[in-house]
Amino acid sequence: MLKEEPEYIALYRSGELARRARTLEARLRSCDICPRECGVNRLEDEMGFCHSGYLPVVAAVCAHHGEEPAISGDRGSGTIFLGNCNLRCAYCQNHQISQDHRAQSGNQIEHHALAGHMLYLQNELGCHNINFVSPSHFVPQLVKAVLEAVPLGLRVPLVYNTSGYDSIDTLKALDGIVSIYLADLRYASNRWGKKFSQVSDYVERARDAIEEMYRQVGNLVVDEGGVAQRGLIVRHLILPNGLAGSRESLAWLADEVSPAVTVSIMAQYYPAHRAPQIPLLARRITTGEYEEVLGLLDELGMENGWVQEMDAPDTYLPDFAREGHPFEPAMNRRK
Ligand code: SF4
Repeated sequence: MLKEEPEYIALYRSGELARRARTLEARLRSCDICPRECGVNRLEDEMGFCHSGYLPVVAAVCAHHGEEPAISGDRGSGTIFLGNCNLRCAYCQNHQISQDHRAQSGNQIEHHALAGHMLYLQNELGCHNINFVSPSHFVPQLVKAVLEAVPLGLRVPLVYNTSGYDSIDTLKALDGIVSIYLADLRYASNRWGKKFSQVSDYVERARDAIEEMYRQVGNLVVDEGGVAQRGLIVRHLILPNGLAGSRESLAWLADEVSPAVTVSIMAQYYPAHRAPQIPLLARRITTGEYEEVLGLLDELGMENGWVQEMDAPDTYLPDFAREGHPFEPAMNRRK
């Protein structure tokens, strides 16, 4: 399919992008940007569960070559890692930037600097898209920065790379701004969500969010080079001991969203952060657990997407303290 201009350009020209940015920013006064609805005044830097105030926190900026092939393409995905998070996953591989808010307070930047990062990724590194990682608690800041970046030449599609714990009202404010949703579906049980990510209603919230994302962007559309232009990709990380509820989650996805939805099965689980001290999370997945999920895809008739190789944990573990780039360059993924 031929490349089309992302819809946010038209929203900018009509003034709608500016209106959305204002409305979103006003919601920071009594923050309900994510489903936690903390009600703190982030305009005054009061902090809720995500420990994030008014300014965006940017932990790393790079061309990422290890995302799904349709996201990374041959020039890389212009990845902006936001600091802090609205979840507390005990096994978070990005815990250096997601769960150390004191260290991240040094990574606060102005909105115009965030706009500058987008333009650098597009113009200097030639990335196919701008990929906001863990964006859920910073949506007003991101939209405000996009508003500044468009008149300076931002033109590539925006990717919203989320844990899935998103507010429907906030997602509606992104309708037409985000071209590609890259959403996790982590649990099928709130018991495990509560125990391992400190969230009591993940299942309902993530499912509602994924339905809204699909309503907005539909199935994945790629250009002539196979690079994503629009659509939903659902990521499912296989956890040890069946904790991710793979059968229930994938069956829900096939039945309630579509068997044609693009799915990315991730085998990269590694007992990071606090997981080594938690018996159920203290090991990698087994070949049996991996093959069971692949069998589910066949059983459910889900044919679109990618499956990570079993050696993924060796190549996907980021180190945000590493000079220059949090990932090793070599990444394997098979279709
Ligand atoms: S974005 Fe942060 S402050 Fe706002 S509701 Fe969510 S966790 Fe609370």
